[in-house]
Amino acid sequence: MNTRSTPKTKKRILTGDTPTGKLHLGHYVGSLENRIELQHKFDTYIMLANLHAYANHYYEADRINNDGHNVVLDNLAVGLDPNVATIFLESGVPEILELYSFFMTMVKHSRVMMNPTVKDEVKYKKLDPSVGFINYPILQAADILAFNADLVPVGEDQSPVIEQTREIAKDFNKTFGKTFVIPEAKIGRVARLCGTDGKPKMSKSGGNSILLSDDEKTLKEKVMSIYTDPKRIHATDPGKVAGNPVFIYHDAFNPNKDEVADLKSRYKKGAVGDIEVKQKLFMALNNFLEPIREKRKYFESRPKETKEILVEGTKKARKTAQETIEIFRENSKFLGLLR
Ligand code: ATP
Ligand code: MG
Repeated sequence: MNTRSTPKTKKRILTGDTPTGKLHLGHYVGSLENRIELQHKFDTYIMLANLHAYANHYYEADRINNDGHNVVLDNLAVGLDPNVATIFLESGVPEILELYSFFMTMVKHSRVMMNPTVKDEVKYKKLDPSVGFINYPILQAADILAFNADLVPVGEDQSPVIEQTREIAKDFNKTFGKTFVIPEAKIGRVARLCGTDGKPKMSKSGGNSILLSDDEKTLKEKVMSIYTDPKRIHATDPGKVAGNPVFIYHDAFNPNKDEVADLKSRYKKGAVGDIEVKQKLFMALNNFLEPIREKRKYFESRPKETKEILVEGTKKARKTAQETIEIFRENSKFLGLLR
């Protein structure tokens, strides 16, 4: 078969966030941390997934745009370098939609309905899902494959979606010859960070998150109300450390490992109160968040610069997607009658 594939000098990353609210600690350990660490090694594209946010919320453009602005600020605040990585708006790259429409002709309805991430989210968000929502893994496949991404840094909840992307890429390549790179998921240091309410996933739409932009007072209130071992009434009762959100957060964000080990050992024996454990967590989290808050302020006070980053990023992203789409069109003969 006479097919072409994209020439690349550097391996690529594509990942992103849905503009459904400000980013939280779960995003940090699940995906942001890897973005920052790998941005110099990979050609990195960070997508503001506004089309995903529209699913079921098509009438909320102002809210989505506002959340989108915040998500850009959060990415910059944690250290994504706009001179190195490309931040772009999904709806500003219509090439993604061409792929999306083609992929919808390939994927079986039964397969879409089987995706565990979609099933979980419908249940969790109590949705009567729009067709767009059910199809979101196909849109996400188009996002990733439009950039021929090699690596997708995501939280564990996204694994089944990446798996579906790989299936689509393999099916396409089998039919039309090698066109798409088969991407791999890169799961974060904490695959799925639990919520402050003890639920398995900290989530923007779950109301159980600690935001990267929370001020000191809000952080303190949230930390003090974190769900702990429900069976422990008094500080002298031996408590459970495994699976306890307060210790999961200590493990993830407190760099003082001796302090954490000491707290755990005293907690198990009933020799420390929740207040002390939470106070120390508050201190650790506050230290972690302080430089992020500072950097966020810097970009917040420069709205023109921040917008320019997104405008220029979207132009660059579109050019990259156009290269892929040309090869897709050629290999699939999608525009065959016009050529
Ligand atoms: P929503 O509730 O609207 O779906 P979300 O909190 O799940 O929002 P997304 O924008 O869907 O956020 O996710 C962005 C990225 O962050 C994805 O890679 C996702 O896997 C990761 N992520 C989100 N929440 C967590 C978490 N609690 N732990 C680890 N990774 C997470
Ligand atoms: Mg999500």
